[in-house]
Amino acid sequence: MTPQTYGFLSPKIEIRSLSGARGQAAFALEAIARDELLAVWAGRVLDFPGLQALSPAERSHTIQIEDGLFLVSVVPDEPSDFINHSCTPNAGIRGQVALVAMRQILAGEEITFDYAMADSTPYDEFDCACGAPACRGRVSAEDWRRPALQERYRGYFSAYLARRITP
Ligand SMILES: [Zn+2]
Repeated sequence: MTPQTYGFLSPKIEIRSLSGARGQAAFALEAIARDELLAVWAGRVLDFPGLQALSPAERSHTIQIEDGLFLVSVVPDEPSDFINHSCTPNAGIRGQVALVAMRQILAGEEITFDYAMADSTPYDEFDCACGAPACRGRVSAEDWRRPALQERYRGYFSAYLARRITP
């Protein structure tokens, strides 16, 4: 039986376990067109103190959706939570909680987005090992300020960050 989930993941996407201890990732089962809806995140909305009160495991499935507000998964196995970061992503954010394809995605490709599209609070900074030639090495809450990323991800930032970038 499929466990209860609250978000949405396109039926064209499958979550697979990666070899070793690399966790899970989302892969396209068939071709996906540019701007097609891939996922919608769901959960409860917390402020920063509320987020900090959670355990690291609970906090790991979080996306920032507004100035000072965070969407945290209610259950630990939401399929839409297993979409990983890449410094050369093929997906971006529409609105605050939806993920769409930034370009055509082929069957078998991993679905990724850049956490700089959503996060501007230092709750989930990490050394990146995405393997992309353009990998910036460290993913930080300040990355959305980089002019090159603002240019590359225009139209695919979370709405609250798009407001900051182009008031
Ligand atoms: Zn990277």
